Amino acid sequence: MKAEIIAIGTELLLGQIVNTNAQFISRECAALGIDIYFQTVVGDNEQRLLDSLRLAASRADVVICTGGLGPTQDDLTKDVLATLTGRNLVLHEPSMEAISEMFASRGIHMVESNRRQALMLEGSDPLHNETGLAVGNALTFEGTHFVLLPGPPKEMKPMFTKYAMPWLQLRMTSEVPLYSKMLKFAGIGESNLEHLLLDLIQSQTDPTIAPYAKEGEVTIRLTTRAHAEAEGELKLQATEAEIKKRLGEYLYADQDVPIETIVLQLLVASKKTLSVAESCTGGLLSDLITTVPGSSESFLGGIIVYSNKLKNKLLGVPMNILEGEGAPGAVSSETAVILAEQLLVRTGSDFGISVTGVAGPSPSEGKPVGLVYVGLAQKNEKTEVFTLQLSGNRESIKLRAAKRALYQLWKQLKEN
Ligand code: ATP
Ligand code: MG
Repeated sequence: MKAEIIAIGTELLLGQIVNTNAQFISRECAALGIDIYFQTVVGDNEQRLLDSLRLAASRADVVICTGGLGPTQDDLTKDVLATLTGRNLVLHEPSMEAISEMFASRGIHMVESNRRQALMLEGSDPLHNETGLAVGNALTFEGTHFVLLPGPPKEMKPMFTKYAMPWLQLRMTSEVPLYSKMLKFAGIGESNLEHLLLDLIQSQTDPTIAPYAKEGEVTIRLTTRAHAEAEGELKLQATEAEIKKRLGEYLYADQDVPIETIVLQLLVASKKTLSVAESCTGGLLSDLITTVPGSSESFLGGIIVYSNKLKNKLLGVPMNILEGEGAPGAVSSETAVILAEQLLVRTGSDFGISVTGVAGPSPSEGKPVGLVYVGLAQKNEKTEVFTLQLSGNRESIKLRAAKRALYQLWKQLKEN
């Protein structure tokens, strides 16, 4: 079933309010298996609203409107739909009674315009407004289902969920709801990931494969149609297996969670502890880790050794490695190794991670922006160093560096 949403209100066009109603309705429709093809915003203008409704009716099975059901002269939705359909507006008696009672109970005189909120299109079904006065409407005209909802979200949401959704569901018996699953990847960029799946993405029909990137993490959303989870899982199985075969080493979760959550789970499960030494990330890695509830079970703490002085003083990196003619420098694998290993010595943790690099915007020590070394030390194991060349501005380089450090630890924990 193809649907569209028309949000009505000049305030929306002026940017005074955000169109959260469209977001809510889209999300609910996706869960129902109704495909939203368009979202329109139109002001409180009779002609333009009429044009929008006509266009929507010409191409959609369902047109869902929000806003403009109130008592004032700029609330035009029902009048305009009456023009489009050639139907009259009639009084919905129960709504009229509720409105009169409300005014009587508050001892306020009811002005004539309040009657407008109790009007409905002739032959339509009323949609009860539990949290306000304006009655909603649902009707089918020339094969298109129209649903009229009020603008205030606290009225629109219950009306949509409790009354409009069941009304629509009765008219879409053959539709099957969407079933989606998120696969989360780290340690690989979006374009590389897409390249490795290009043939699958280009030939996708069912399930659909949608990759998108957030800083330092990539998500693939697989979507199909299914009545129940078991059926959905079955329909995703083959595609998911193929993706795992190609990208398994980067796939850290099959649900929408950040990598730090999974790293913490693995650390806690293996009863291992972690400490970190951060230079270019300036505490961001510790921040990500401590955002996970219960991180104190495994995370001993972090040291921000931003200056060479502190790298030397707190974690014992010799000054002749950090500075001077021919020295490797602060941004070097040598420094990353010493920082990570000294964490084990000085904190007693099972794992030590160090991050040192050039976040930009200018090169440092003659090294390019985005060059980052991640050191990973582990009790009784050889320390590893990962050399990264990251792209982006200062902020994204910091975040990507922190996420890559977590990715390296995740890989190590999986191997252990
Ligand atoms: P009222 O009886 O309050 O006039 P109404 O059905 O006529 O209700 P509008 O006048 O269009 O609705 O909007 C009333 C209020 O509802 C707006 O001032 C705004 O706060 C909120 N609102 C309207 N449309 C939206 C929208 N699309 N998204 C979020 N909020 C909205
Ligand atoms: Mg209004």
